[in-house]
Amino acid sequence: MTYDLIIIGAGPAGVSAAVYATRQKLSILMLSKDIGGQVAKKAVDIENYPGFEKISGPDLVDLYKKQLKANDLSVTLGEVVGIEKNDNIFSVKTVDDKEYKAISVIVTSGAESKLIHVPGEEEFAGKGVSYCSLCDGPVFKNKDVAVVGGGNNGFETAVFLSNYVKSVKVLEYGEKANADAENQELVAKNPNIEVITNAQVTKIEGKVFVSAIYYEDRANKKEKKIDVSGVFVEIGYSPSTNFLGNLVDLNEKNEVIFNSETLETKTPGLFSAGDCNVSRYKQIVMASGQGALAALSAYNYIRKVS
Ligand SMILES: Cc1cc2nc3c(=O)[nH]c(=O)nc-3n(C[C@H](O)[C@H](O)[C@H](O)COP(=O)(O)OP(=O)(O)OC[C@H]3O[C@@H](n4cnc5c(N)ncnc54)[C@H](O)[C@@H]3O)c2cc1C
Repeated sequence: MTYDLIIIGAGPAGVSAAVYATRQKLSILMLSKDIGGQVAKKAVDIENYPGFEKISGPDLVDLYKKQLKANDLSVTLGEVVGIEKNDNIFSVKTVDDKEYKAISVIVTSGAESKLIHVPGEEEFAGKGVSYCSLCDGPVFKNKDVAVVGGGNNGFETAVFLSNYVKSVKVLEYGEKANADAENQELVAKNPNIEVITNAQVTKIEGKVFVSAIYYEDRANKKEKKIDVSGVFVEIGYSPSTNFLGNLVDLNEKNEVIFNSETLETKTPGLFSAGDCNVSRYKQIVMASGQGALAALSAYNYIRKVS
C-alpha cells in the first residue's frame, strides 16, 4: 500500500502534523520509536504551553494519545533507519527491515540534549538538573544556580536566568568561553553572573533536590564545590537526523535546513518540523506549530502530484 503521508516521530510536532493531516482526509502512517518524545521525559510541570497553567509531561502525552485515538490515528512503533525517493514515491525503512511507501513524508524526529555524564546528573534530572531554561528558569527564583557550558547557549541561558535567580555561575571546560562577543558583553555587564573557565564538572550532589555541583579546576587539578539549587546543562543538542542521508541538507549541528514558508526540505515532498530543524529555541509550542504547517504543506504537495 502507498500512503498519502508518512509521519516519522510522535512528539509534539508529529502529533500536531497527524491531527492536521487527518483533517485533510489524507491516509497517514505514523512511525515512531515512542509516543510523546521529549515531553514524556518531563517529570515536572510544563508551564509555558497555552491553555494549560500547569501540566506534567506524562499527562500531556495521555492527552496526545486520546486525541490520536479520537482521530482514528495509531502509531506504529519502530525506528526509521533510512529513506529513499524513487519515481516520486518515498520508501521508509525501519530497523526491523520493514519498508513503508508514501507520496510525502514529514520528519519530526526531534533532538536530544547532550548529557555531561557525571554522577548525580541522571538522579537529579527534573529535581534541579534541567536542560531547558525557558521551561524551568522561573522555578529557581532567588536561588543560586550553575550553567554548564560557555557557548552561546550557556551564555544566553545565564542572561535569561539572571532575571530570576540570585546568582549564576557559568562553568566552561575550556580555557576561555566560546560565546560570541555580543553574549560575552551581556554577561560581563551582569553583576550576578560569574564565568569560571577550565572547569570540568565532576559530580552533582543533593538529597531530594540538587544542593551542590563539583568541578575540577583543570589548571591546578583541585576539586571545588559550589552550593547551588539548580544546574542547567547547556552543551548542545543531538538532532535525530542521521537516517535522512542526502535527501536533506543539514547545518553544522546536524539540524535540517528547510524552506521557512513551507518547511519543505531540499527534496520535494519531504517536510521537516520541530526540534530536528534548524532553530534557536526548541519548545513544545514551536514544534507543534511547525507540525501543523508541515501537514498543510504536505497536503498541498500531495494534491499537486497525485
Ligand atoms: C526534560 C525536558 C523538559 C522540557 N520542558 C519543556 C517545557 O516545559 N516547555 C516546552 O515548551 N518545552 C520543553 N521541552 C522541550 C520540548 O519537549 C521539545 O521542544 C519538544 O518535545 C520537541 O518536539 P518534537 O516533536 O520536535 O521532538 P521530540 O519531542 O524530540 O519527539 C521526537 C519523536 O521522534 C521519534 N524518533 C526519533 N528518531 C526516530 C527514528 N529514527 N525513527 C522513528 N522515530 C524516531 C521519537 O521517538 C519521538 O517520538 C523540554 C525538553 C526536555 C528534554
